[in-house]
Amino acid sequence: MAAFSAKRFSVALSVVLSITLVFAMAPSPAYAAIAEITNKQASKVLKKYDADGYYLVSTMHKYGIDLFRGSADKYDIRYYRTNVHETCHSYFSHLWDNKYGMRYYYIGNKKRIGVTKKDVFKSYIALKSVPKRLREGRWGEYVGKSNLTVTANVYGIYGLMDEFTAYCWGMNTIVKLYPYAKAKTTNSGYLNLTSDYSVSYVEFRYFMEQYLYYAKKKKPAVYKQIMSDKKLLRAMRAIDKKFASAIKAYDKNVVDYASTNRRFDKYDAEDLEEICGAVSEYNMFVKELLKSRYTAITKACGLKNVAERHPFKAWPKTPELEEESAYTAARSAVI
Ligand SMILES: [Zn+2]
Repeated sequence: MAAFSAKRFSVALSVVLSITLVFAMAPSPAYAAIAEITNKQASKVLKKYDADGYYLVSTMHKYGIDLFRGSADKYDIRYYRTNVHETCHSYFSHLWDNKYGMRYYYIGNKKRIGVTKKDVFKSYIALKSVPKRLREGRWGEYVGKSNLTVTANVYGIYGLMDEFTAYCWGMNTIVKLYPYAKAKTTNSGYLNLTSDYSVSYVEFRYFMEQYLYYAKKKKPAVYKQIMSDKKLLRAMRAIDKKFASAIKAYDKNVVDYASTNRRFDKYDAEDLEEICGAVSEYNMFVKELLKSRYTAITKACGLKNVAERHPFKAWPKTPELEEESAYTAARSAVI
């Protein structure tokens, strides 16, 4: 499906970033020259528009971790989004007390919450039996059987929270860089290249809540241990709140873009399919999370339910734009 194109880009960029990170300490002179220019531009943009993204990136620079490498269109928001996302992972796992098993979730405004990772089971165990329709998005990449070594799978709820946090700050970057992107991207670039990212919010909420639901039923000792980890739950609530507000702001950007930028009219079928596909996926996970088995988990974690967090009615109708109406209708489908 069309939504996969943005995902494929994300995976490809992650691979490139992983490879370039290996050479981060000793780049070839030619490569260093390119990276230096790119890094300088990217950091400058983040500093101006996205304080949290800049804080993450500049903090990890101090530890010799520089993920802003490779050449990219400087107005391509995916480049900033994915780099902030990956930097968030390095913040989680490479900082300070790694040898003591401490992990850090960045919660914004230069603040973090540290947790000591406990023994947990792999995410795959809790998620292998979920309905097939819920496995079409990020399931295979993060919690499927073929990817048993990724953090989201190995570290159970702690790894899922790491991914949830990384997607949150990537989404925040998309929102913060809107004024920068708005004037420069061509056609509907800002929208069709970023809409899929908001799905990760409900998708990881679902992965986490299914993990906890399974633990409650099948591994009560692990469940009890997780639910007594107040710092983990506090981080979960903080990221959840931030993530939901970023998506809400993103929706406002979409409306603004549609009403002020007539280039929205130039949507082609693929763009529309991508955006509506993302909305449809989003709604599918919302419906799932509103089932009683998950709302009990939601409550136990002190989270708000997803529909309450992000009211879909935030999308006003503007009938003169056929495409936006289609998106609005899709967005409103679960009200
Ligand atoms: Zn990630």
